[in-house]
Amino acid sequence: MPDWLLHQIETQQGITYVRGFGKHVSEGRCGTCGARVLRARDDEAQSATVDVYTVGRMGEAWALLDGRATWRLAGHSLLQLWRRHEQNIGSWPIGGKDSSGPVRVVVEHRCRMFIPQAWRES
Ligand SMILES: [Zn+2]
Repeated sequence: MPDWLLHQIETQQGITYVRGFGKHVSEGRCGTCGARVLRARDDEAQSATVDVYTVGRMGEAWALLDGRATWRLAGHSLLQLWRRHEQNIGSWPIGGKDSSGPVRVVVEHRCRMFIPQAWRES
């Protein structure tokens, strides 16, 4: 897990503690495999469960090729998940920045399919 995300979870900055899926990101455990995950209802009002690792550009490409959805982890005071589609990936590449902060991307959680180290941002 990236240090900045661990810090936000530990200090509860940007992370809420709702049961189930709220608009803002909450941290918890997968009910099936027990892995640490982040959950939120995304900008398309879909329930999203993602692994707690942010990925680099190649990692996002590999994740998409693997059929896993990706989301931007955006926001300042409270984090939200924004679904990444082809046009978002080109317009807001990982490593870029805009008014929502740096472009950080997380990947759909799949039980017992951990994000490989090579995919991770750092
Ligand atoms: Zn799981």
